[in-house]
Amino acid sequence: MGPVLSGLTKLQSVENRLRVIKNKLARCRRSVILQENQVRTLTNSLEAKKEEIQLTKVQSDRLELELKSRDEAIAKLRASLNSAKTNKEYAAVLTQLNTTKADNSKLEGQILDLMKDIEADEAECQQIEEQIAEQKKTLENTRTESEQQAVKHQAEIDGIQKEWDQAAKDVPEEALHIFKRVAETYDGEALSIVEEQEENSAVYSCGGCFMSITPETVNLLMTKDDIIRCPNCTRILVLSVTGEQT
Ligand SMILES: [Zn+2]
Repeated sequence: MGPVLSGLTKLQSVENRLRVIKNKLARCRRSVILQENQVRTLTNSLEAKKEEIQLTKVQSDRLELELKSRDEAIAKLRASLNSAKTNKEYAAVLTQLNTTKADNSKLEGQILDLMKDIEADEAECQQIEEQIAEQKKTLENTRTESEQQAVKHQAEIDGIQKEWDQAAKDVPEEALHIFKRVAETYDGEALSIVEEQEENSAVYSCGGCFMSITPETVNLLMTKDDIIRCPNCTRILVLSVTGEQT
């Protein structure tokens, strides 16, 4: 393997390590975001529950008011019952009084149901509040832990980045440009090893996309130090990543 391809191979191995640690850092940050989202979801459901309680209270207040005015109507009906002059009048007032009373007890039942709903919702609110407190504790722990991890990861990234810069110096500018572009496309995987499908079969394929590679291409890779890209996936083809093969 000539200096161009072996330089790229070296760069690829540093790139791989860099990506691994960068992914670790990203995962670290993501775990905090996930916990934050959970707190937010719980907070939202708490707010929704509280709003529901508020609406139920408004409804029950309205029914209370209605009940009060009906109680006043009952008092009036009782008074007219006492002052009724004829039996017919008495009977009519009595019927009205009984109807109003029946309506009232129905209203009282409705109000009671609403009160029960409010109580249940309030208990649920308390439960959610406890969950939020618990989740916030977990979040803080995760945050502290992940901040410590992030510092470690970042230091490691800085170190590997220096190695990367050093390795990149050994690669010609044009080749480096291609490497970066393909790496961008394939999540860091710019190089692809040509694989022999079966031992000594002389049938080759790209290790990245598994499309076949001609023996002529393999010949060129053995004899020259040129960048040859897979015609299908455009990865830079090499015969091995160790650089032992020539
Ligand atoms: Zn390919």
